[in-house]
Amino acid sequence: MSKNIIVIGSCNTDMVIKADRLPVPGETIIGGSFMMNPGGKGANQAVAAARLKGNVHFIAKTGNDLFGKRSIEQYEDEGIHVENIYSDPTLPSGVALIMVDMNGENSIAIASGANGSLSPEDIRKAQPTIEKGDILLMQLEIPIETVEYAAQIASEQGIKVILNPAPARALSNKLLQNLYMIIPNETEAEILSGVKVTDWESARKAADIISAKGVDIVVITLGSKGALIKEKDTFHEVPVPKVKAVDTTAAGDTFCGALCVALSEDVDVLDAVKFANKCASITVTRMGAQPSLPYRKEIDVL
Ligand code: ADP
Repeated sequence: MSKNIIVIGSCNTDMVIKADRLPVPGETIIGGSFMMNPGGKGANQAVAAARLKGNVHFIAKTGNDLFGKRSIEQYEDEGIHVENIYSDPTLPSGVALIMVDMNGENSIAIASGANGSLSPEDIRKAQPTIEKGDILLMQLEIPIETVEYAAQIASEQGIKVILNPAPARALSNKLLQNLYMIIPNETEAEILSGVKVTDWESARKAADIISAKGVDIVVITLGSKGALIKEKDTFHEVPVPKVKAVDTTAAGDTFCGALCVALSEDVDVLDAVKFANKCASITVTRMGAQPSLPYRKEIDVL
């Protein structure tokens, strides 16, 4: 059995309407197709890791409603441990309303609902599960004090804490010092370092600044270029396989989930990033978030 990966983060239901064009304020458009998909960065990363054969425990919060119950059933079907998904008695489950036009242009509104009430108290309840973990993966779609608290108790136990700092925001040095690894994309790396990241060179500069704040390993994802690793004083530029990208939704989520799976199998960081690149490059060839996440049998490296 591979080591335990704990994911703490958001779960949403994405409700998507595809229409010829986006409505303007006050307008009603009739026609178009409707799809309902599970989403949220926490859930996407948990599902990505589970499909790649990680042993995943997901800690999250839903509302006491049909969306929440359905999401939990779907995670169970993916083989995820769901014992620490809590239910908020008053708030609804997180929902994203997404409208997409013929050109793929979109307009999105997210109501975080119960994701916003996942609290340090919930993390205390889940502490026995967290302490069984080897790797803790988090993002920033839940309250920052919850992320900070979980990072602190996990790092005290010697658990490798990995943060995907999305959506982008500034972070306290205390949180950064509790991280084993941070995985920002170009925008997030810019917010954390003040350096505009556009290529390998600028990514190196950003990684230097971020690692100086106390994170052991910095991995900056650079879209179709691949990813840069900074570990101690060594850099690796890891290119991604060339593919025909049709939709990059959940590319970063796949990358993070995959990287944790490889680390949970005691693969070194360079090979883990190669594996993550390969997995994320498959996701971008397919439409949607969770429907596009690859399965282990599709990956020929590692
Ligand atoms: P995010 O989705 O968080 O914005 P990136 O765009 O940096 O993050 O993508 C994350 C990873 O997904 C990249 O490091 C790479 O492995 C893969 N990826 C993204 N875009 C492409 C692409 N066009 N072709 C191949 N792989 C891609």
